[in-house]
Amino acid sequence: MSQANPPGVPIEARPGCLRVTETYLCLEGEGVSLGCPTFLVRLSGCNLRCWWCDSKFSSFDESEARELGWEALRDMALESGAGWVSFTGGEPTFRGGGEMESLALLCRALRGAGRKVKVETNGLLLPAALDGAVDLWSVAPKWDGSLDGGAQSTPAMRFDLGALAEFCRRFGGGGLQLKFVITSDSRGLPRESDLERVRSILAALPEARRTPVLLVPEGLSSGADYAARCRALGEAALAGLKDFWRGWDLRVLPQWHRVLYGDARKR
Ligand code: SF4
Repeated sequence: MSQANPPGVPIEARPGCLRVTETYLCLEGEGVSLGCPTFLVRLSGCNLRCWWCDSKFSSFDESEARELGWEALRDMALESGAGWVSFTGGEPTFRGGGEMESLALLCRALRGAGRKVKVETNGLLLPAALDGAVDLWSVAPKWDGSLDGGAQSTPAMRFDLGALAEFCRRFGGGGLQLKFVITSDSRGLPRESDLERVRSILAALPEARRTPVLLVPEGLSSGADYAARCRALGEAALAGLKDFWRGWDLRVLPQWHRVLYGDARKR
C-alpha cells in the first residue's frame, strides 16, 4: 500500500528492522568505488522532495517499502559475495531512532565481517549513531536549478553549508566524496548555472580541498547522447583547471549503470 512520510518526519520501523525498497547485486555506478561489485540496499523515506528525483518510489512516496530485519540484511549482503555494501535511498540518514540503531548495527556487523560500507546522502543529517560505522560517505548536495539567482534553494530541495563543512572536517581525506549532478542545456552542454552553484558551494568549503569532487552528468539520457554530455562536462572541467578547478581532486565520471544498462532498474 502506498505511504508517504510527512515532510521532516520519518515513518517508524518495527524494532530491529529497516524500511527497504529493494536490494540487489550490481557494479557500483558512481564515484571512487565505481565498478566495484556492490550489494545495494535502497532504504525508503527522504527528508527532501526534489521534483526531479528519479527514485520517488523510494523517497517521499515510499510505495514499495517493506520492513526487513537488520540481521537478515546482513546475511543477504554477506551471501552476495560483494566486498562493498552501499546504502542509498531515499535518504539513509533519515530514520526514526529505532531504525537508525538497526542501521548502525548492520553497518558495524558488515565492517566486522570485512566488508566496506558506503552511505549515499543529501548531506543534511549526520547521525551520531553512524560514527565509525561507514567507510565512505557519498554526499550529494541538492538545489533547485530551475530557480534563477538567489540561493536556488527551497525547503523541498536544499543544502546546508555547515553540515557539509562538518562532513569534510570529519571524513575528508579518505572517507568522503562530494557528488554534484550537472544538468545540460538545450545544446547538451553543461548548464553554467549548475557549475556556478558547485563552485560557490566549494568556495565556501576550504575543508573540502582534499576530498574527491565528482561531477556527474544528469542521467536523463543514455547511449551516444549521454557519452556526448560526459565529454562536454569533461571539457568544461579541463577548461577550468587554470582557474577555479586548479588543484582540486576533481573527477568527471559517468553513471556506470547508465552506460551499461540505460534506464533499467536494479542495475
Ligand atoms: S534527496 Fe535524493 S532521494 Fe531525496 S527526493 Fe532528493 S533526489 Fe530524491
